[in-house]
Amino acid sequence: MNEASKSTPLIELSGVGRQYGQTGKAGIAALSGISLTIGAGEFVCITGPSGSGKSTLLSILGCLDRPTSGSYRFVGREVSRLKPDALAWLRREAFGFVFQSYNLLDSVTTLGNVELPGVYGGLSRAHRQRRAKELLAEVGLAERARHRPAELSGGEQQRASIARALMNGGRVILADEPTGALDQHNGKRILDHLEALAQRGQTVVVVSHSPDVAKRTDRQIELRDGRVLKDVTRRVAAEPVAVYSTVAAGRKGKRKSNAGLIGGLSLGFTTLRRGFFRQGRLRAFLSLGSVALAVWWVVTLGAVLEGIAQEGMRIVNQMDANHIVLMPTTLANNDLAPPAVPLSLQDAENIEQSIPNVRGAAPRLTREMTVQSDSRSMQAFVKAYVPGMSMEESESDSPGLEAGRPITQLDNERLESVALIGPGVHSRLFSSLEDPLGQYLTIDGHPFLVKGIVSADRLNVLGASEEFAARIAAAEENRVYIPFNTGVALLFGTDRIRFLDIWVHDAERIGDTAQAIGDLLIRRHGQVGFMMSHRAGEAAEVAKGRKVVALFVLAIGAIAMLAGGLGVMAVMLMSVTGRTREIGLRMAMGARKKDVLTQFLLESAAVVTAGGVVGLAASVICTAILATLGVPMAHTGWVAIVALASAVSTGLLFGILPARRAASVDPAQAIAAG
Ligand code: ADP
Repeated sequence: MNEASKSTPLIELSGVGRQYGQTGKAGIAALSGISLTIGAGEFVCITGPSGSGKSTLLSILGCLDRPTSGSYRFVGREVSRLKPDALAWLRREAFGFVFQSYNLLDSVTTLGNVELPGVYGGLSRAHRQRRAKELLAEVGLAERARHRPAELSGGEQQRASIARALMNGGRVILADEPTGALDQHNGKRILDHLEALAQRGQTVVVVSHSPDVAKRTDRQIELRDGRVLKDVTRRVAAEPVAVYSTVAAGRKGKRKSNAGLIGGLSLGFTTLRRGFFRQGRLRAFLSLGSVALAVWWVVTLGAVLEGIAQEGMRIVNQMDANHIVLMPTTLANNDLAPPAVPLSLQDAENIEQSIPNVRGAAPRLTREMTVQSDSRSMQAFVKAYVPGMSMEESESDSPGLEAGRPITQLDNERLESVALIGPGVHSRLFSSLEDPLGQYLTIDGHPFLVKGIVSADRLNVLGASEEFAARIAAAEENRVYIPFNTGVALLFGTDRIRFLDIWVHDAERIGDTAQAIGDLLIRRHGQVGFMMSHRAGEAAEVAKGRKVVALFVLAIGAIAMLAGGLGVMAVMLMSVTGRTREIGLRMAMGARKKDVLTQFLLESAAVVTAGGVVGLAASVICTAILATLGVPMAHTGWVAIVALASAVSTGLLFGILPARRAASVDPAQAIAAG
């Protein structure tokens, strides 16, 4: 604030009126035509009977309230029409309030209360604490800094509130009946303090109807029915001194709002923890609980439903959902139908390479044949396969070896008569003492050298049902693998592929992939002589089911969040109503609307975040228990993240209304109502 010339009075009211009631209609005139000046360093008492307008005048002087008519100049500057934030600035920088009922926040320590105006003044924590301690020492309360106001006597509380009024400088101390609630001894002590401040040059305006107070001040202004009845100056004011100012105290940056915000946050959270959670346990429990319940329900349900969906997908996959069997065939028993396409290895390679969703394609030449060793004979499934082609794509095509070496591409190219045998073949054709490797066996009379033994542990990979698994395992046990070309040349008599096994990456798109394969074959062969079988339906059903489940979870989540949000809003509105006085007080200490808004929004967000975390924890426990009971569970990280994020945003969203209501509190009324 610019220091005006010495002749400019500190406070100058001319024709100030304050009308209560609706505009336009005649209301109650609490003040009318008040004209007076107060110079820097004056010690003034405003007296008058109850209802004469003393408190109203004090509120106007302290910029807690605005005149409805007339002009109020502070150091030469018109303030009656200042914007709310500018008034907040003035309250913070120029005024210090002392109330009859002390108005200390019960939720923070005495030190915290004294610090409060410094928080809104943007002072650093260290700076604030240092100054608050000095001020408490000045009023004789150094030992009581860590106590809560409720643990202090009335006189001590009032001394703490004087310290608070001085926190940002308190160029003008405005005290409303400061001794009204105190016994004579303590009342005198408070007056001593105020007098000392006046003597060192601070401006002190006291409202009191007590003659004892009036006697001690330099000047007495008596009000009657909202007008000045008497204005008597007995002593000349002390020389004004330079007072402490947060502006001069080297607050960081031009906009102190950030420092104020952070300070406000820490203080806000302290009051949240102490005030909201401690004093309003039921309230906190209700709003936190409603959100916790919503998050718990959504995340648990999401995990269960996703678990079931994944289980379904797994079963479908076990049913070979990503498998297409392609068969060249005539499609009807008449001459007009296209003949079977001559499907070759090239087709298989082509399909594998040019259709993106295809993981691999393997021709199937398999037949039950007689396999013999020197002394024994059995029926075995002989499978001719192309080594290196789609080996990894199908368990049955990629025999892992227990012993020996694999069939190579060279074996295939050279039409080598080599074979890998399954464990069943091994045990039935060779004695346990014999090593089959390097021995010969015959397949349909053709000699083959045993090159390797397929390991048994490869055989239980497909296990849809136990029966199915057993069948597959038995088939695998008795399988003999030979190179594709050798099989064609010696055993199968044709390279016309009878079946082509095709595996896809994404079972959900298997229908489209089959279509693409069909198109490719028609392009290559110009006819439709083939059939394909796959289980597109099941996979698509499960995929659809999963989407429905996801939507269902989201919808339930949204409803639960809405309910939780409404709960939070109701509770926060209650909280605002219950804390109007605290809000007014914070505003008197210099909090802007924005500070109050932020504080309440953060409180809502904090409550719902806490609720969200509790709900999440409960859900983790719950899913763990359900999992041990055998319920299929899937950890749905995304549901948890979405639930938590929407809880926080719900808190912020539903916190807006209560926060706005808090920010629109009229400080003068809020304090008077207290
Ligand atoms: P004092 O502090 O001298 O007791 P006040 O300043 O509190 O007097 O009140 C002055 C007059 O204004 C009284 O008649 C009171 O009823 C009226 N008044 C004060 N505040 C309000 C209000 N918020 N709404 C309506 N009338 C009010």
